[in-house]
Amino acid sequence: MARCNLLILSFTLLLSACAAITGADLTQPSTSSTTPAPGASAPSTSSAVVAPGSITPGLAIVRPGGVDLYSAPAAQILQTAHQGLILPVLAVDGSWLEVLDSCSNPVWVKQADVDVVPKSIPQPTGNGFDLSAAVVVVDAGHGGRDWGAPGPSGTRESDFNLDIADRLRDLLLSSHDIDWATGRVEPGDSYPALAGAWMTRDTSGPEAGDFEAGLAYRATMANSVGADALLAIHNNTGTDRTLNDPPTAVFYAVSVDDSDRLASLIDAEMVRAFDAFAEDWQGSGIQGTAARVDADTGTDFYGLLRRSESPAVIIEGAFVSDPEQERLLETSVFRQAYAEGVYRGLIRFLTTSETGSEIREPELFAGNVGSPSTTNCVVPTQP
Ligand SMILES: [Zn+2]
Repeated sequence: MARCNLLILSFTLLLSACAAITGADLTQPSTSSTTPAPGASAPSTSSAVVAPGSITPGLAIVRPGGVDLYSAPAAQILQTAHQGLILPVLAVDGSWLEVLDSCSNPVWVKQADVDVVPKSIPQPTGNGFDLSAAVVVVDAGHGGRDWGAPGPSGTRESDFNLDIADRLRDLLLSSHDIDWATGRVEPGDSYPALAGAWMTRDTSGPEAGDFEAGLAYRATMANSVGADALLAIHNNTGTDRTLNDPPTAVFYAVSVDDSDRLASLIDAEMVRAFDAFAEDWQGSGIQGTAARVDADTGTDFYGLLRRSESPAVIIEGAFVSDPEQERLLETSVFRQAYAEGVYRGLIRFLTTSETGSEIREPELFAGNVGSPSTTNCVVPTQP
């Protein structure tokens, strides 16, 4: 369905629930970047183990039994991190790895104590892109004490985001045929499984995925593993008008080339995915492909996008605050449609040079949408 309101620049202060993705947090460390080793390849599984020294370490996966986090190599043990936690690697010092914990604190682990995933080298997108070598980070927004948007019946945005992220991960790690005329996604061989789909929160991970995670942690996971894309899954709040079209907005990273094209394709496929579900959508009027630039600094307003070195988007699928959309989000068929919309948009981004929805120019933004501190953030501890 054609979008008729893309050119309407709204200055309505969106009372976004996405407090964890604001640009206002200044407490988190900037990330360090490592250079891919020549010949480094993507992991063949989601938990590849490699010999130390042969690659550039990208991620450190905590093994069963947990891993000790140190304040510096061979220094004080801070805690034992929960098995399954994914720690983006910042630096290598002999047999030690500097990593970022889930609260965005730089800490150290022994390389021999973790499973190391090598940093991948992103491919050029377009015709000839090898999906089977692609690596993506899926970020389920919010978590732990940060619920995101509350639904009118007591639901939590963070729970919906987590389930949708899991569904997206499952799509990314299996092969499919896609009927582009209808949008139908089914098992097949046309689009192979990706090499990796790394999750910032995951129902099979620590605390069943319900833990607080810092913005730097989330973005650095994509940077450290050399992701072809960073996809942040969110839903929205603050409806104030009736819309003809689905209220989805997809924010792109101004600072990373091609993020806008990624956003435009995901938005186009999300709108297609949601078109069948409701007649009278409620929303804020901020729809389609959008970007926000901090009015003071001129950089990406959203901290996640500002920190990303990979093409990155924040997807605001539906409005948790709207009773009808909350009911839709409570159905697996709607959450699956959300995941399939993102999946199709990503596939088009990686394998074609197409654009989707009209790409809006970045909007100067000086709003305050809240910014929870990670001061009291707790890294999941091995029981
Ligand atoms: Zn959110």
